[in-house]
Amino acid sequence: MILNPEKECMPREELRKLQSQLLVKQVKRVYENVECYRNRMDAAGIKPEDIHGIEDLSKLPFSYKRDLRDYYPYGLFAVPMKDIVRVHASSGTTGKRIVVGYTRNDLDMWAECVARMMTAVGLGAEDIVQVSYGYGLFTGGLGAHQGAEKLGATVIPMSSGNTALQIQTMVDFGATAICCTPSYALYLGEEAERLGVTNQLKLKAGIFGAEPWTEEMRAQIEAKLGIKAYDIYGLSEILGPGVACECECQAGMHVWEDHFIPEIIDPDTGEVLPEGSTGELVFTTITKEGFPVIRYRTRDICSLNYEPCACGRTHVRMRKPTGRSDDMLIIRGVNVFPSQIEEVLLNVSHNDITPNYQIIVDRVNNTDTFDVNVEMSEQLFADDVKSIEAIEKTITEKLRSTLGIGAKVHLVNPKSIQRSEGKAKRVIDKRKL
Ligand SMILES: [Zn+2]
Repeated sequence: MILNPEKECMPREELRKLQSQLLVKQVKRVYENVECYRNRMDAAGIKPEDIHGIEDLSKLPFSYKRDLRDYYPYGLFAVPMKDIVRVHASSGTTGKRIVVGYTRNDLDMWAECVARMMTAVGLGAEDIVQVSYGYGLFTGGLGAHQGAEKLGATVIPMSSGNTALQIQTMVDFGATAICCTPSYALYLGEEAERLGVTNQLKLKAGIFGAEPWTEEMRAQIEAKLGIKAYDIYGLSEILGPGVACECECQAGMHVWEDHFIPEIIDPDTGEVLPEGSTGELVFTTITKEGFPVIRYRTRDICSLNYEPCACGRTHVRMRKPTGRSDDMLIIRGVNVFPSQIEEVLLNVSHNDITPNYQIIVDRVNNTDTFDVNVEMSEQLFADDVKSIEAIEKTITEKLRSTLGIGAKVHLVNPKSIQRSEGKAKRVIDKRKL
């Protein structure tokens, strides 16, 4: 099923025309209303009149996450506060939070994007959707919530936490779909198994995002919860959940191009790369009123596929990001992505460890130190020290063969790695502090 075929299946030339019209309007709007964009365009010698359509997009200067901190809290809003009907915020890695605002129209657009995504994975009005993303300043909970309501589904607004109650609710209320972070989905699956209620679950689909996950993790979630697990992409600077999502073909995530223009650039030179290349994903929002962004550097590394999709949607598909340009760690001269470590950990028995880990990098006596803390399972926690050491050794060897450098692996107590908004902080690079 396709929620809005007129838009989602628009012939590409028509889509390009629509994007061009909306871009011209948006550039004019931000130039007139947002100091940051006006200053940056002036500095680059670009006036709104120089932008005639999407072919001129690359003339525009980039925007960055640091802009959100510099103009904290409302300095990047393009409308007066009386027109902003909601704000969301996310915790920044250092100091100030990132604040975004939405007009009434923005909220409607957001709801439609999420409803399109839920339709694309086979959900409809008869479904019962349990939203287990955190509700609050984080965009996940309310974002998924309003989309499911727009779809006409029955929403269970669970929010995150209290796993036993989550599972009981899923069983008693007959939830057919769940939205949460993938690591939490896996945990829910393991707990359901432990409680012996897996066969009482009525779930058929799960929509997971807000943190990186691997194909191995997808297979595990699907097996444990007995569902199809779908990947979504979103970030609060662009919208929240619903920027892009997989359809039932599961061959990349459709980006809703009537609202967002994606580009792939070389993260070092800023140059737009040829179609199909892998590079940094950049977004321009062409319909957002409250908090528009122009050429926002997401730091996510991926590629775009413009080939037609078997589902009939014409909108471009992005590949799952393979890492972040600023997440890539260089440790003793070797490139290390946290996703590589996650893959290794997912292949270690879940009787011994959980996939929750934290990488700590520091520099001592001019040499990089590289520690990986991994939460052990409750089962192992009750076990003796001897087997803990043996498992640490196994993981150390596996990491060395995958990464090409040695890490110090420490198994830590279950649930001891700090989480925020349901997301674990994966990397602590003390060299940058
Ligand atoms: Zn498709």
